Amino acid sequence: MTIEVKNIGKQFGDFSALKDINLRVEKGELVALLGPSGSGKTTLLRIIAGLESPDSGSVIIDGFEANQMHVKERNVGFVFQHYALFKHMTVFDNVAFGLKVRPKAVRLPMHEIRERVMALLSLVHLDKFHDRYPSQLSGGQRQRVALARSLAVEPKLLLLDEPFGALDAKVRGELRRWLRRLHDDIHITSIFVTHDQEEAMEVSDRVVVMNHGKIEQVGTPEQVYHQPSNGFVYDFLGNYNEFAGFRDDHGQVQLAEDDVWEAPPAPPSLVSNIRSGWLSRYPEITQAIRRVVPGVAPSLKTEAVTATKSGAKKPRSMRGTPVRVFARPHEMFVTKTPDEDHQYIPVKVVHINPAGALAKLEMERSGGVVLQADIPKSILDSLSIRRGDQVFVRPKNVRVFE
Ligand code: ADP
Ligand code: MG
Repeated sequence: MTIEVKNIGKQFGDFSALKDINLRVEKGELVALLGPSGSGKTTLLRIIAGLESPDSGSVIIDGFEANQMHVKERNVGFVFQHYALFKHMTVFDNVAFGLKVRPKAVRLPMHEIRERVMALLSLVHLDKFHDRYPSQLSGGQRQRVALARSLAVEPKLLLLDEPFGALDAKVRGELRRWLRRLHDDIHITSIFVTHDQEEAMEVSDRVVVMNHGKIEQVGTPEQVYHQPSNGFVYDFLGNYNEFAGFRDDHGQVQLAEDDVWEAPPAPPSLVSNIRSGWLSRYPEITQAIRRVVPGVAPSLKTEAVTATKSGAKKPRSMRGTPVRVFARPHEMFVTKTPDEDHQYIPVKVVHINPAGALAKLEMERSGGVVLQADIPKSILDSLSIRRGDQVFVRPKNVRVFE
């Protein structure tokens, strides 16, 4: 089933819950609606299902305008966060329910209902539990029963509204992977609502990022993460460090903040010693020289003035067009020995979380601002960085939103 949403608008009193929404979901696709709470995800899902009617625009299902189409005719299966199963019914009866309540003329014979229910239960790996009651299942198992129940009536479209929202992180992770595999098997057109970016990225073919009743970006997980179309998408999809910067006359982006460290011009003899001489092989000594030789010491002063090429001194912030600069934690370079070719920010390591392939560092700048860096555990070890150490960081990749 293909779904087209055209110019949908929805008001609740004075409040615009959806503003001119346009979206197309292809047959067999799994699309995630991702956005903060209140961004209009559930409202859009309910309009697609026919549970809510839009004030303007239309929903087109398989090429047919569906505004007048009843929920039942839309052939939709639902799974919600709290899709209460029938407590007094076994797992089997819960899944069979939608099939048993059909009018006699279209109802399947009992043995076929039985076959289909057992096939679905084996699909969600719960066939052994068919005669249990919901109270005898874990949260994750209950949501799998809810999914089997929604699939029993062979919907053409599956709508999932934060289906794993009430479960703990580990079970959520398992169910995500499991839903992904299930979708690869049965290829039912599905729309999955979540406010959890990791969940959206892991589960879906495409992500629709929503904010304040509008779509900010539609794209593959890779596109929305690596080519965010604006600051909101960038912000919503992960942690980041933010810096003040400027674009210089050559179009290059540079950091403009007061505590930025740049190797100041040093006496030529010393520079050549450091750069090309034997000293360069001993970064600790180079550092020590920088500390003791006036004019080579890292300038940690708050008054950030550096010599420009012409020799005139200008505050960094006034040397070009101001821009905001962003970098993800994994895009930060961390070192104890800064080089002359880059700008660095001196920081103190305040916390290290070494669990995982990437160690997570929390570092404080002189003004108290915290920066985050994720670096390979092997680099953390080889640099022997410990809590309390003074290190230098710089963004390797920056994103600029002007
Ligand atoms: P989400 O699912 O993204 O959290 P919703 O679609 O549930 O967002 O809600 C979007 C906005 O519309 C929210 O501010 C919510 O309070 C409001 N809203 C949703 N349903 C109603 C309703 N029936 N009456 C009034 N306001 C509503
Ligand atoms: Mg919601």
